[in-house]
Amino acid sequence: MNLSDYSILNVDDYRPSLYARSKVLRQAGFEVLEATNGAGALQMLSDLRPPLVLLDVNLPDMSGFEVCKRIRATPNIAGTTVVHISASSSQSRHQVYGLDSGADSYMVEPVEPEVLVATVKAFLRARQAEDALRRSNEDLGRFSYTVAHELSEPLRTITVHAQLLERKLGGQLSGETADSFQFVMQSAHRMRSFIDDLLRYSHATHPSGSNVAEIDTEALLVQVLFNLDAVIQSKGARITHDPLPTIFADARIEQVLQNLITNAIKYSQPGITPEVHISAREQPGSWLFSVRDNGIGIDPQYKDGIFQIFRRLHGRDVAGHGIGLALAQKIVEGHGGKIWVESEPGAGSTFYFTVLTELTSAPRSNQASS
Ligand code: ADP
Repeated sequence: MNLSDYSILNVDDYRPSLYARSKVLRQAGFEVLEATNGAGALQMLSDLRPPLVLLDVNLPDMSGFEVCKRIRATPNIAGTTVVHISASSSQSRHQVYGLDSGADSYMVEPVEPEVLVATVKAFLRARQAEDALRRSNEDLGRFSYTVAHELSEPLRTITVHAQLLERKLGGQLSGETADSFQFVMQSAHRMRSFIDDLLRYSHATHPSGSNVAEIDTEALLVQVLFNLDAVIQSKGARITHDPLPTIFADARIEQVLQNLITNAIKYSQPGITPEVHISAREQPGSWLFSVRDNGIGIDPQYKDGIFQIFRRLHGRDVAGHGIGLALAQKIVEGHGGKIWVESEPGAGSTFYFTVLTELTSAPRSNQASS
């Protein structure tokens, strides 16, 4: 690790401490920025984006805790590593409060110089790994988007021209030729729906905070059921629901409901009418939604695996690309929620997901900070 590539923001209003800490860090090879109050620290973070801030707790204009909260609430700097450091606020309750308010660590002075340097290095190592992971996720997202996008156009051409040919040849097609045409059209259709799923998935890798709006989920369900009307009718599915709330969420939450209800109908037990029930209840800090079915169920050993992209438990006999649940998970986690399933083979499944009650900004993990 080349330490001079990293700038550290050192924040303290007590000049001797500020000076001593900066000296230790500079001697270790870091570039050090300095601020002596909260407003100055926030400004410097926004302007210069150092990856780590050593943040005194007692500052003249606002507490270090408040600075940390503002860092976490500001999208472009929310990912900064915050290490509180204090001589006066040294009790356990201060440390607990600081960490609960979003700090990554809390050091109590006196801190030995070598411990300070080693701690900063350790955080930067973790930070490097996190950045590499984020970059590789972004690359993967760009890759799948580009592939899907590039395949879209030639596929459209194939479909349009196959349809034209079919229309022109019309009555002359028979037997094997007609079957071949059907295969071409079916394969094109399958590929179209795969590409559309892939495009939706790569769109969901972008942060969702900016699209948050008030959503009446009961009206949303009506829309979803309208979208799924053909499949509901063909399977004779019965869909019921409890009163559903108005929430703050990304509009893509519709996709989550739609994918879960589609699966609840799709993975039904042969000869049994699919029954799906949607409900929601408020719990501290979030709404808990559930989609319950009476379908074939899922072996508990696969209950995490099914959320991985392209993971399918059922072969080609049931149409699908293995993207629906991965997409639902991306969307739910993209605004701070969780998604999981409880199920037994043969006894139906209940999928749960949560949506934060007060969704004011995208979560930290979705923010690029450098
Ligand atoms: P797809 O349905 O396209 O295969 P999904 O990502 O939506 O992809 O689902 C992944 C796998 O999880 C499915 O292939 C299926 O095996 C299983 N699964 C999803 N929902 C249910 C359900 N409600 N009941 C039983 N199995 C399910």
